[in-house]
Amino acid sequence: MIDLQKDVKYIKGVGPSRVLLLNKLGIFTLKDLITYYPRTYEDRNKPKYICECEDGEEVLIEAIACNKMTSIRLKGKTMQKLIVRDETASATLTWFNQPYLRDKFSIGNKYKFFGKVSKKAGKITFNSPVYDNEEKNQNTGRIIPIYPLTYGLPQSTIRKIMEAGLKDVYGNLEESLPDYITKEYNLENINEATKHIHFPEEFKDFNIARNRLVFEELLSVQLALLQLKNNYMYEEKGIQFEKEVKISDVINTLPFKLTNAQRRVLEEIEQDMESDKTMNRLLQGDVGSGKTVVAMCAAYKAVKSGYQAAIMAPTAILATQHLENFRNILENLGIRCELLISGITKKKKEDILQRLENGEIDILIGTHAIIEENVVFKNLGLVVTDEQHRFGVKQRTKIAEKGENPDVLVMTATPIPRTLALILYGDLDISIIDELPPNRKKIETIAVGKQMTDRINNFIKQQVKEGRQAYIVCPLVEENEEMDLKSVEKLYQTYSTEVFSEYRVEYIHGKMKAKEKDEIMEKFKNKEIDILISTTVIEVGVDVPNANIMVIENSERFGLAQLHQLRGRVGRGEYQSYCILKCEGKSENTRKRMKVMVETNDGFIISEKDLELRGSGDFFGTMQHGLPEFKIANLFEDIEMLKMVQSVAMKILEEDPKLEQEKNQQLKNLIRDKFAKRIEI
Ligand code: ADP
Ligand code: MG
Repeated sequence: MIDLQKDVKYIKGVGPSRVLLLNKLGIFTLKDLITYYPRTYEDRNKPKYICECEDGEEVLIEAIACNKMTSIRLKGKTMQKLIVRDETASATLTWFNQPYLRDKFSIGNKYKFFGKVSKKAGKITFNSPVYDNEEKNQNTGRIIPIYPLTYGLPQSTIRKIMEAGLKDVYGNLEESLPDYITKEYNLENINEATKHIHFPEEFKDFNIARNRLVFEELLSVQLALLQLKNNYMYEEKGIQFEKEVKISDVINTLPFKLTNAQRRVLEEIEQDMESDKTMNRLLQGDVGSGKTVVAMCAAYKAVKSGYQAAIMAPTAILATQHLENFRNILENLGIRCELLISGITKKKKEDILQRLENGEIDILIGTHAIIEENVVFKNLGLVVTDEQHRFGVKQRTKIAEKGENPDVLVMTATPIPRTLALILYGDLDISIIDELPPNRKKIETIAVGKQMTDRINNFIKQQVKEGRQAYIVCPLVEENEEMDLKSVEKLYQTYSTEVFSEYRVEYIHGKMKAKEKDEIMEKFKNKEIDILISTTVIEVGVDVPNANIMVIENSERFGLAQLHQLRGRVGRGEYQSYCILKCEGKSENTRKRMKVMVETNDGFIISEKDLELRGSGDFFGTMQHGLPEFKIANLFEDIEMLKMVQSVAMKILEEDPKLEQEKNQQLKNLIRDKFAKRIEI
């Protein structure tokens, strides 16, 4: 038996420093290693003649070394240079700072080189090609996997480590899918699939291997989600809220007319609330589509039926804003709302907890603070979580446990294509607000390069002079908060002392204390700040109608869904609003992505494009959906497989709802392995 939980440090070629690098990639065990799949592959199988090489293509050549390698010093670097030739032409190979290469090549010997061709005036150069001796196939001469990597860990190294790891497991892996399934769906066995996904001999091998691994990954997700949904059905009955309590009583007091979409979702919610089934509903709606008022109506119904409601928001800023909105409307209807965030005084907190337990508070609005153990409700009947992707499934469950089967409404402004949502949120029913309130001005969006900086800055100044306010969002620097922080501070320095020195500039970032953040947001709301420089902390739900400019620096580094969220911070008032996407680099992909942003304001279209242009790994990674990350499946490419697998999963569970049959034991283990983390965290 092979121990897949074995620490990577026991794998051949992995010393202490490499362990750290592997850990950085999330590879801790042998299992992590062999399921660390290549990002792409390069076909280094078929050599080309040098005379056939085209500029920019990646090519394998077989050539003879013509001279001894020379070294040239260039601006503090040394460049190694080697001339090679085959029957048709010669080529120059260059490397930087790799003096040890001197001894690798002997004049007159044949080598294989693989790299990117640069062809200028008929002269062929390869920059830092990889190489092998004629008879070796370490780096060239086959289909080579390319892994997503971290600094300091070259492809050739991880490839060697992977080979060693695979050698350990090949032939010893236990089949993870039941026989009857691999047979019926013609799936490759786990040993071959694992080997071929890393080192396919032909691309055909890769397709067969990938097919099996994707099937397995999607099947385990589907089974887990469907089981969750079934569990709700087995649960004891939920609350039946009063039919006599009419949501229309709130609607009539609103200063605006609800959109048709808002009415429709409210009907769906009201129906759920009146039935004896526990509501588990996801409410999707673009930024600004008016989800808050929907939550308010649901809370009204709960309270007037004799229960309490909890509203959970991801940031103190948002929670405070919700409190204001709720009080504005509901206090007149005799409903008592309170705010619980970590920033409040001990005395105030004790008072709130006391009144909550006595039932003197009807609606408690707050942040994570609501989940804490000492928060006790008298009779919690409805839980609403806002901006769901910020909360894990566990948190959702934890707050729900404070009542007896309360109804749960989960709100998100992260639109997902409907087909996907139906599948991914298999454990929730879904309502969608697909319409914005009338009279919203379209946010003018433009994408600009560096050369426009002055004009943009002048435009901002002009708008500020007219009394408007602007957000400037900083580039994301990797997934590293400290670096992000630095970039905010740096930008703040330049902007506050140079470019916008005559204006009131402030900055805000995620690492500040909640109280500091609130103070700054409060000042911004009160127009005491003209220009707010920020990280993505302002991404979620903040409402400052007077702010009409959103500048996003290095917007090429953000996902489309995220850009759309950021853009949603403006366009909330009566003024024409602008979103300025500054970007560097002119890659085809960046160009396409910016085009999407400029052309549409529709979050659903944007999320679909995002998925298409980035792949689902990124998509879900960035959005922290609380869903398992997909290691190999790509929800855009694999949508057909996903549909097929969904029906397979349903068939399996229909016959064996709890996966108790002997033949389904492997499936049960699969789900347990994969989802232990998701459900528990
Ligand atoms: P989100 O869905 O992003 O949470 P909000 O609930 O914050 O959106 O609503 C955005 C703004 O639109 C708020 O100022 C809200 O009062 C307003 N609003 C909501 N519904 C309507 C409507 N039907 N007509 C006009 N304004 C509306
Ligand atoms: Mg909102």
